[in-house]
Amino acid sequence: MSGRTRVRACPQRTCVGCRKRSDKPDLLRVVLSGGRCVPDLRGTLPGRGAYLHPMSICLDQAVRRRAFNRAFRGPGPFDVTALRRQMEQIEQAET
Ligand SMILES: [Zn+2]
Repeated sequence: MSGRTRVRACPQRTCVGCRKRSDKPDLLRVVLSGGRCVPDLRGTLPGRGAYLHPMSICLDQAVRRRAFNRAFRGPGPFDVTALRRQMEQIEQAET
């Protein structure tokens, strides 16, 4: 019998949309590629990343507060079309 429960500290990241912290696996990593925000589904793309809940509302908030400009240190505007499509796909898959 083992009375020890392994508590693994899950790395946390802040969503650039709603500014809430979540466990890293619950967030979608976003990287900048050629002026466009693209979802990093495997977490393997190089470069500066931003984290976002995979939900359209968080994407909307991030766009409204220009969170990507801050995250990617650029004036923008950044194309979030690919991201929006990704969010919609995830949302559709969940309903
Ligand atoms: Zn969020």
